[in-house]
Amino acid sequence: MLQKHTVGIIGCGNVGIAGAFTLFNRDVASDIILVDKDERRAEGEAMDMMHAQAFSEPVTVRAGSYEDLKDAKVIVIAAGTGRKAGESRLDLLNRNVSIFREIVEHLDRHAPNAVLVIATNPVDIITYAIQKLSSRPDTNIIGTGTMLDTARFRAMLGQYYNVDPRNVHAFIIGEHGDSEVPVWSKASIGGLRLADREVLGKRFDRKVLDEIFEQVRYAGREVISRKGYTNTAIGVCIAQLVETIFDDQHSVLTVAVHMNGEYGIDDLCMSIPCVVGHSGIEGRILPNLNEEETEAIKYSASVLRESVESLDI
Ligand code: NAD
Repeated sequence: MLQKHTVGIIGCGNVGIAGAFTLFNRDVASDIILVDKDERRAEGEAMDMMHAQAFSEPVTVRAGSYEDLKDAKVIVIAAGTGRKAGESRLDLLNRNVSIFREIVEHLDRHAPNAVLVIATNPVDIITYAIQKLSSRPDTNIIGTGTMLDTARFRAMLGQYYNVDPRNVHAFIIGEHGDSEVPVWSKASIGGLRLADREVLGKRFDRKVLDEIFEQVRYAGREVISRKGYTNTAIGVCIAQLVETIFDDQHSVLTVAVHMNGEYGIDDLCMSIPCVVGHSGIEGRILPNLNEEETEAIKYSASVLRESVESLDI
């Protein structure tokens, strides 16, 4: 049997709790520790989950402090704060950086060896900032990045081709945001490249497929306009990432990592397909991109570069 570990969740709002609850139902963690600046909220969430223990897998959920995270193998950061009236996006970003400076100090003191999984938006920038602020290696600081976008992409392509999304090999790289890039040249089902030929009775019609990508790109906006926030799918992505690390799965996931010259891009965080295991990022896969995709990834990097350069760190 695989060893179970402790996971910490910092920020117990919609996203943090969706991640915690998915883990609670998956039988992968021995302990889930909830940390929130609103301690009563974390306590309430922990109580609520523990009340389901008679019908769930054995796992202990409790509210805690940073000191309680000392044995955590993975710590998820989903703490967020909204924009105040009159505040610019940049002001918010820099206010967030000062919040994360404090969180990182606590984490480096109490859980220096844990792998950090970052979900807070703008996730690529926050991941970069945490990498700059923390003394742990960059490979131990992973943003969920385009993992959610890739999940949406595979789900929607699965619906279009009427096939199990788990058998759709397709990914989205770059920014988790408007400049993200669908890698059409490598998308395949059952070993057949979609761009090469008709697959499952559907030819490679870029107009139709671009419309599917537009739905992926703006999926978050669509969900938020209906329910006010997104949390379920990102919660599953968080749990999947935590489980991949716990079980040393060496799965290939599109997550936000520090770029070290890949595709000519340096010193910022964005998503590329990575091998994830026990020690965080264990490898990077760099598919050959066609000209259109190469241009697009460079543009995505330029968008992120602007924010990174305005960071107060
Ligand atoms: P929320 O407002 O429901 O929850 C945020 C929680 O963080 C609150 O409980 C708050 O008390 C807590 N918090 C704030 N500052 C804190 C601090 N210093 N220490 C500890 N806890 C603190 O927000 P949400 O809907 O859960 O969203 C959280 C973040 O996740 C946002 O940045 C959101 O944009 C992001 N998000 C990311 C993705 C993704 O794909 N990466 C998807 C959806 C949402």
